[in-house]
Amino acid sequence: MMAAPGKDHKQDCFVCGEEIIYFSEREKLQCYYCRDVVMADSQCRAGHFVCDKCHSSSAMVLIERYCIRTQYPDPLKMAVELMHSSSVKMHGAEHHLLVPATLLAAYYNYLVKKGHPEKISEKEKKIREARLRAEKVSSGFCGFYGTCGAAIGAGIFISLVSGATPVSVQEWKLSNTITSRCLHSIACAGGPRCCKRDTFLAIQETIPFVNKHFDVEIPLDADIRCQFSQYNRECLKDACQFFDR
Ligand SMILES: [Zn+2]
Ligand SMILES: [Zn+2]
Repeated sequence: MMAAPGKDHKQDCFVCGEEIIYFSEREKLQCYYCRDVVMADSQCRAGHFVCDKCHSSSAMVLIERYCIRTQYPDPLKMAVELMHSSSVKMHGAEHHLLVPATLLAAYYNYLVKKGHPEKISEKEKKIREARLRAEKVSSGFCGFYGTCGAAIGAGIFISLVSGATPVSVQEWKLSNTITSRCLHSIACAGGPRCCKRDTFLAIQETIPFVNKHFDVEIPLDADIRCQFSQYNRECLKDACQFFDR
């Protein structure tokens, strides 16, 4: 069982909602999100442990901590795992970071795996910068500004991997191209907003694009099924491509 997004598990597991069991003596455990190993006095019945820093952090900080440390190759898998945490709500501005942070993690994890361990520090730097940029994209941006923050997140990602600035040429073109492609795919799916659907669409649109232009091979799960529809009052159900019947 995974936790309901946005549901505060006041006394239960932050990851899955299971009951927490307490130890009489502390044990060394690894945090589910940031991979830090600390002396812990509890874990859930399913074996999850979440460190105090991750447990008390905002969704943005949790996404940043998780993405810096994860070694997963698949950004959609990371995004879904983070969506299940108590911090990430059904909808909200944290999805604007979820897109670039998971894509940056996958991009750098690929480079590290291909024999570039020196890229680990760059990965952390870029994910921290992504957070600073994503924090400027407030919630409701999709409806109030006509530009979904998940699409901006894809633009932040390509800007960061290409090193784009307002005066670059090819990098500028690539960054704006990916935002427009994601936005088009998000617009075609139709309203009302769904931060899960729009995150999936932006990541799915960006993976083949980054693979083509940046010589990486990030895996693409083209058949992702949404596990959050029952928590979304405005879910399009059968009209959404990710709806799990
Ligand atoms: Zn758990
Ligand atoms: Zn942690």
